[in-house]
This record gives sequence, C-alpha cells and structure tokens, in this order.
Amino acid sequence: MLWSSLRLKPTFQAGFNPTGDTDMRKSALVTGGAGFLGSHLCDRLLSEDYDVICMDNFFTGQKQNISHLIGNPYFELVRHDVTLPYVCEVDEIYNLACPASPVHYQFDPVQTTKTSVHGAINMLGLAKRTKARILQASTSEVYGDPEVHPQPESYWGRVNTIGIRSCYDEGKRCAETLFFDYYRQHGVDIKVVRIFNTYGPRMHPNDGRVVSNFIVQALRGEDITVYGDGSQTRSFCFMEDLIEGFRRMMQTPKDFPGPVNIGNPGEFTMKELAVKILEITGSSSNLTFLDLPQDDPKQRRPDITLAGEALNGWKPTIQLEEGLRRTIEYFRTQV
Ligand code: NAD
Ligand code: UDP
Repeated sequence: MLWSSLRLKPTFQAGFNPTGDTDMRKSALVTGGAGFLGSHLCDRLLSEDYDVICMDNFFTGQKQNISHLIGNPYFELVRHDVTLPYVCEVDEIYNLACPASPVHYQFDPVQTTKTSVHGAINMLGLAKRTKARILQASTSEVYGDPEVHPQPESYWGRVNTIGIRSCYDEGKRCAETLFFDYYRQHGVDIKVVRIFNTYGPRMHPNDGRVVSNFIVQALRGEDITVYGDGSQTRSFCFMEDLIEGFRRMMQTPKDFPGPVNIGNPGEFTMKELAVKILEITGSSSNLTFLDLPQDDPKQRRPDITLAGEALNGWKPTIQLEEGLRRTIEYFRTQV
C-alpha cells in the first residue's frame, strides 16, 4: 500500500471520539517501548492512566520487560520497525527506538543511522498529521568527545563524522535537526531531551554498556573488563530520575522545545565504578584492562541548570550507590 494512501483524514486525530466514550484517557505511542527505558516509561504512563501503544522491533528490547503489561486493556504491543511508516492516533509520541549500547549500535551501523533518521522522519510525520506532541530521546553523544566540561546545551560538540561511533552520534544529531526543522517549518510540538548515561533494572545482561557489564561480571565472578586505563569518566543517572524528567519535559509549554540535558552530574572514572560495584556485590573478581575503543569520550558530565529551571526544579534524587544497589538486586535474579 502506498504511504500516500494511508494519509489520515483531518478528523481522524487525537481527540477524535465517534462513540462519545467518556473514558477519554490520554494516549501515547512509545517507540522502543520494550527496551530498558521504554518499558519503564510504559509503566509510568499506564500508572498515570494513559492508553499506551508500545512499538518495538525487538532488536535489543525484551518481551520480558513488558510481559507484566500483557492483558492490561490500556496496553497494546506492536512489533514494528520505526524505519517504516506507522499510523495511529495518539496525543503524545515518545521516540526511543534505537539501540543505545555501542556494541549493538555498531553491529549494523547503517541500520542504526536509518533508525535515527528515518525513524525521526516517520514519527515527526505522524506527529504533524495527528498534532501529537513528540519527544525525542537524544543523547549526550551529540557532544562527542567534549572539550567543554561539564556540557551545557549551548555546546555544539566535537563529533567524528567517520568513526565507529558516528552512526549513532550523527544519526542522533540529524534526528535533532529534523525535530527542530519540523518545529520551525511545520509547527510540530517537539520536545528534545539529551540523555546522559542512564542505568537500572531491565538492562539486558548482554547489553554491553558499562554498568550492566560490570555488575554481571562481578556477580558471575568473572574479570571486570575495564577499557583503557579506566580514567575516562561518565555521569550515571538512575532510570527513575530520567523518566521523571521525560514526564516533566512533556508538560512544558509548546514554545519550549528544548534541548534539555537530563542526567546526574555525579562524575566517576570507570575504575571507581568498578571498585564500587565490587564493594556492593562483595565479589572477588579482578580488574582486567583491555584496549580503549576508538573515539571513546574521555569525560562526560551534564550541566543540568536548564533542566532545573525549565522542568519545575527537576534534579536527580537517586545517587550512584543506591541506584547500583537496586540494579544489582535486579541482576541477581537474572544471572
Ligand atoms: P535499549 O537498547 O534497551 O532500547 C532501545 C529499544 O529500541 C529496544 O527495545 C530496541 O529493540 C528498539 N529498537 C531498536 N531499533 C528499532 C527499530 N528500528 N524499530 C523499532 N524499535 C527499535 O536502550 P535504552 O537505554 O532503553 O535507550 C532508549 C533510547 O534512549 C534510545 O533511543 C537511546 O539512544 C536513548 N538514550 C539512552 C541512554 C541511556 O543511557 N540509557 C543515553 C542516551 C540516549
Ligand atoms: N567500558 C568499560 N568496560 C566495559 C564497557 C564499557 O570500561 O565493559 C567503558 C567504555 O569504554 C566507556 C564507558 O565505560 O568509556 C561507558 O561505556 P558505555 O558503553 O556504557 O557507554 P558510552 O558512554 O561510551 O556510550
């Protein structure tokens, strides 16, 4: 079927209510909804009485993340690839579909760029036709290997266009460009959030990102794989704080599109992270030092001044120690 033949009629949009149903819940589409963050967002939206459509192609997502929602009449699961057009009528779209771990986004880099770019075009087109508000899960990777530290939203970044991380970084940067062009050119109601390293329960044990790798290795008594000398830094946000930031961002006025950094400014070296995880798990695993991957950013910390001002005093409430404990409890049930 031609995409043009799928165009929606003007009446067939958010708020369309032919049956006169009085249970007019707000509705949301979450792309990447079976992933780590997407599944927590689905939970949160359902807890706020939303009608939720979860779209995922299960590249890195897991059915286990959303299995507890199957049977809820306000939850629909759709297997679909965001690079292909999708039609529905919702009030809000949260565009999270994209592998986030370097191991997974580098597995099929062409598909990664397509996911960010074609996915953004498809979801922005849907938002334009249905007048839905749309949030983009952007990333601190738009800052690349930053020379400005901490990173404010005004920093344009230092990104390699041709490296192994570029499919993700440039895909997300292009998605931001598309969001702001749809905002200026078509008046689409956009919200762009730049997420800094977020962790928590429901990360896949084989996700490949540092927090889940170190925890799984510690629990299995395997060597902890520190890349490089472990002096590079990251700032880790617990997923609950991030989801709260998403929800607050979605409630800001239309003339505030962002971008807004969401993250926890607590900054740690990867060696410090490894030691903390060993302490909390009580593991006797050893650290092993492996090659640092190409273009691995040396430092990263969000400037969250804007988030505090624009998102009604938002700030992270769960610090690394507590977040790690909760994540470790989860992984004890998985490995
Ligand atoms: P994740 O890998 O657990 O979730 C991504 C989800 O998207 C998965 O369920 C995956 O199957 C799905 N997906 C991938 N390609 C798709 C496609 N073409 N069509 C439909 N679904 C597709 O990762 P996450 O940490 O939950 O990340 C969610 C979003 O947040 C991603 O867009 C990511 O770039 C962004 N983000 C996350 C972090 C973080 O630290 N967690 C940081 C910055 C940005
Ligand atoms: N890292 C590590 N060991 C691992 C996985 C990652 O030392 O097993 C390092 C990686 O080199 C990077 C940091 O941890 O410096 C964060 O990596 P991650 O893949 O979690 O996310 P990134 O912020 O690099 O996208």
